[in-house]
Amino acid sequence: MQYRGYGKTGYKVSLLGMGCMRLPRKEDGQVDRERAYEMIRYAADNGIDYFDTAFGYHNKTSEEVVGEALEGERRKKVKIATKQPFGEMTTQAKIRENLENTLKKLRTDHVDVYLVHGINGSQWPDIKKREILKEYEKFKDEGLIGAIAFSYHGNYDGFENVLTEYDWDMCQVQHNFLDTNREVTTKGIDLASRKGLALVVMEPLRGGSLCQGTDAVNRVYNGAPVKRSPVEWAFRYVANFPGVSTILSGMSTLGQIKENIALFSKPDMKEGCLTDEDLAMLAKVKETYESVAAIPCTSCEYCLPCPQKVQIPGVFQRYNTASMFENFEPPRRTYMFLTKAGTDASNCVECGECEKKCPQGIKIIEQLKIAHEALKGWIEL
Ligand code: SF4
Ligand code: SF4
Repeated sequence: MQYRGYGKTGYKVSLLGMGCMRLPRKEDGQVDRERAYEMIRYAADNGIDYFDTAFGYHNKTSEEVVGEALEGERRKKVKIATKQPFGEMTTQAKIRENLENTLKKLRTDHVDVYLVHGINGSQWPDIKKREILKEYEKFKDEGLIGAIAFSYHGNYDGFENVLTEYDWDMCQVQHNFLDTNREVTTKGIDLASRKGLALVVMEPLRGGSLCQGTDAVNRVYNGAPVKRSPVEWAFRYVANFPGVSTILSGMSTLGQIKENIALFSKPDMKEGCLTDEDLAMLAKVKETYESVAAIPCTSCEYCLPCPQKVQIPGVFQRYNTASMFENFEPPRRTYMFLTKAGTDASNCVECGECEKKCPQGIKIIEQLKIAHEALKGWIEL
């Protein structure tokens, strides 16, 4: 297993981290605890020493499962990162109560990394106003948490503000070779690397979409002089960045853990592990995927905010992902989160404001209807 430094914290952590949001489930949708314990313990006993969970994962049971699996000697050997959602941090007392509950669930007296969960640029002023990070600083002084961090979903501009206006220990962002110009973009990865804080990358396989190519994509992979699986190419793309401390993978089976540990134990799985030729091949894979994207949305967000809070680029990105990977299931599942938040396409009242601002000239109202029909109706067990 490769290990890397973790910003200014002094931690050294495994380059492969275990994301605990896709633990195995039983038919009733609950976590299959026996299988999850086996996986988490195998990971901890075989080189993975970084576990990432959150208050909300698996219907608020992931922290509990992680705590039960690691309790005792294993807990001493690993780092646990967990997250508190911004929406749950209404008062200083509530922030503390949430951490106390988390510590109980994790069966530990401290968490190594404590994140503000899934923020974006527009929430940042509120996070500052509510003085949430002052509370986190108190936790750090009291030894209840080791590092102060945030996970981010949004565009580069918002990321730059959040990153530069506070002295964070770590940031966690989505990145993979398809998202070079989406979310924080490669520019955001470079900025975080230059700032010297720990950088944790999630979704290296884009929720599993990059595990296998379409026929057209596989023709590109097959043309490469070096033969590697799509999974290995995707992991290598992220490992190639020297500023990345840990790459999170949400593994769901013991087999995946074993395969991934083997990949991250290769001596050359490190910064600089891709040649210019390899990177050009991955750019070609990206281009091939994008050539079948249904809507030419670049996620520039010029159309936002929508007065009805419709997450226009989020809707289009899910629809495009479904088209590119010829698989509607994962995007339909995540579309459910927009529906729950009241930000899906069905909230559009056809005011037309967004269409005036779209540089791509997309007929947004019409495309939202098409996307909604294709993505609606997911029921989570
Ligand atoms: S047309 Fe629909 S999506 Fe566009 S701004 Fe108006 S309500 Fe929002
Ligand atoms: S303005 Fe157009 S291209 Fe930009 S995010 Fe909105 S729909 Fe996409």
